[in-house]
Amino acid sequence: MSNIAIVGAGGRMGRMLIRAVMTSDHCTLVAATERENSPSVGKDAGILVGATALGVVVCESLQADDNIDTIIDFTAPAATLQHAAFAAAHGISMVIGTTGLDAAGLTQLRTIMAAQSVVMAPNFSVGVNLALQLAERTAATLGEEYDTEIVETHHRHKMDAPSGTALALGQAVAAGRDVDFSERAVYARHGLTGPRKPGDIGFAVMRAGSVVGDHATYFVSDEEQIEIRHVAHDRMVFAKGAVRAANWLVAKQPGWYTMADVLGF
Ligand code: NAD
Repeated sequence: MSNIAIVGAGGRMGRMLIRAVMTSDHCTLVAATERENSPSVGKDAGILVGATALGVVVCESLQADDNIDTIIDFTAPAATLQHAAFAAAHGISMVIGTTGLDAAGLTQLRTIMAAQSVVMAPNFSVGVNLALQLAERTAATLGEEYDTEIVETHHRHKMDAPSGTALALGQAVAAGRDVDFSERAVYARHGLTGPRKPGDIGFAVMRAGSVVGDHATYFVSDEEQIEIRHVAHDRMVFAKGAVRAANWLVAKQPGWYTMADVLGF
């Protein structure tokens, strides 16, 4: 049985994570936090998600005597760096779902957590991780003759764009073609753009309504079109994947792991 802390407990994902931990036989919730002045602070984590009381009150910070094995963090880039500093200081593992960290933030995170166990993934769903494998394999087979575009839609509250998952799909395509992703990615088109360059990996982003996550990767030639599409219907799919990752991490040596490692791909 491992002891879990959920940071950002009042968020869309935080609430799902509390429910997912409650239904797992392999872990137990020992701490939950929210940002200062959040209306969730002071509430019992179970009551917060409409379940029975768990005896875990949402606090403004993690405490050394919470006896935490793993922090599950789906918050925001700056908050995740703070949580990592706490984790590293107390020898705690992390499962990180936060997206939108830039290259400098990611380097900082890896440096802080260099001696700990971490699973970090832009998407914790099994289906998306399968789609990533398919995108890499399809790109390897089809090459640059097939124009590749990644189209994603998320709810109106999402902070970063393109989504971490869309970027991961682009990186999978680049890996399949054995090219440098940063040289091929095209994030915006506006005005007189000229014709599409062969080999571009294009992104298009929609923000609308309450869409949980919709990603389509297109491979288009003059003669045919292949689409690899994943639609998430419920955030619980990410929460279950993150809890699965936390349970998997218990027996692992310190290191930096992905969801592909957890799923054994
Ligand atoms: P959200 O805004 O609903 O929740 C984030 C919560 O974190 C908020 O309640 C906020 O108050 C809290 N928070 C901010 N700073 C904090 C701090 N210092 N300490 C404690 N809590 C703090 O957002 P969300 O939709 O739940 O998404 C959160 C993150 O997870 C985003 O980066 C999103 O892209 C990512 N996400 C990842 C996956 C995945 O599978 N990897 C899936 C869904 C969302």
